[in-house]
Amino acid sequence: MKIIIHRGQNQIGGSIIEIATDTTRILFDIGIELDDEKNRVRPNIEGLFDIKGFDAVFVSHYHSDHLGLAYEINKQIPLYMGEASYKIIHASDIYKGSRTLNVAGYLKHKTPILVGDITVNPFLCDHSAFDSYMLLAESQGERILYTGDFRSNGRKPFDWLLGQLPTNVDTLISEGTTLSRVDFVSESEKELEERVVEAIKNVSGPIFVLQSSMNIDRIVTMYRAAKRSDRIFLEDLYMSEITTAIGGSIPNPSVKGFDDVRCFLTTGYKMEHFRYQLFDKYQAKKISKTQISKSSFVMCIRSSMFRYIKLLSEKMSFTDGLLIYSFWSGYRKQSEMTSFLEECGQLGLKIITMHTSGHADKETLIRLIEWIKPKAIVPVHTENAEWFSEVFGKEIKIIR
Ligand SMILES: [Zn+2]
Ligand SMILES: [Zn+2]
Repeated sequence: MKIIIHRGQNQIGGSIIEIATDTTRILFDIGIELDDEKNRVRPNIEGLFDIKGFDAVFVSHYHSDHLGLAYEINKQIPLYMGEASYKIIHASDIYKGSRTLNVAGYLKHKTPILVGDITVNPFLCDHSAFDSYMLLAESQGERILYTGDFRSNGRKPFDWLLGQLPTNVDTLISEGTTLSRVDFVSESEKELEERVVEAIKNVSGPIFVLQSSMNIDRIVTMYRAAKRSDRIFLEDLYMSEITTAIGGSIPNPSVKGFDDVRCFLTTGYKMEHFRYQLFDKYQAKKISKTQISKSSFVMCIRSSMFRYIKLLSEKMSFTDGLLIYSFWSGYRKQSEMTSFLEECGQLGLKIITMHTSGHADKETLIRLIEWIKPKAIVPVHTENAEWFSEVFGKEIKIIR
């Protein structure tokens, strides 16, 4: 099989990886670049937009740097992604009122999909996106394993994943996101939960959490911390739609969902507006600003919600209130985020950072590579591919 990294090799984001035989062409991931400016230009890949030149596209997870371009590709090319991933993306698209994706089929753990003469086998892994997969391509006895984005510090045991994965593959296409971060070690999601519980236990004011509505593991962490602190958990309509789309054990305010999870709306819509209709279905789980102001809560927020938070501050005391920043530190430097945090600080909220990475640290990458024992490694999704050469260059062929 041929491997062509169209994009996302020596950079983080915009991943597009082609695996091809003489008769079959598939893609692993179809991302946009994290830099908006660059995204105005479509990558020049033959057979992706105008004609159906690929037999299938497999999306490892729903982060836009792996999925974003899926909306633009030729509609004849079958698209595969995880079922829960699709539900999340679908809920998000409906909320935004934007067009959504058509999928040809769902990725399921260890359930192979045959496309031409390539078999693709997905392996469920842990990442800051829910329902993420590593992807194994097999053809005529040759095996290529693509890690997608992954980590060992989530709630899924990493040993379990290692036990599921194939070993002695021909080529490992591995992410290396954290390799450019100095002395980086990932804290586990469980440890983070303990730290949050500790940080909020003596807080008497309101608690806000600034985090991604699509980081389901983090929602679970913050929900658990809220529950252990006898606070209700508040999700805005957007987050509610996402958690409700997955349902089950994920904290959500649907009618049959969690009693202590409630849904709030930051904008007053007319009754006929589609978002009002979405909100209205939460029935007794809906909560108003006035009710919130009389409750003890942990509220999930976004940086676009300042107006609402300010209005809430007029209804209740923000004395001894807390804002937990739970994103990657890089986003803090963006101007919208900087001014949002500044304004929240002016309302009297103390701002603290509580976050852990969605990506494998060095120790995790070493464990994976030593376990898999690939004959060759292609580093991707990294700004430090050199690390693979330094650590494994003597025993394993590193293709850069
Ligand atoms: Zn990524
Ligand atoms: Zn990702």
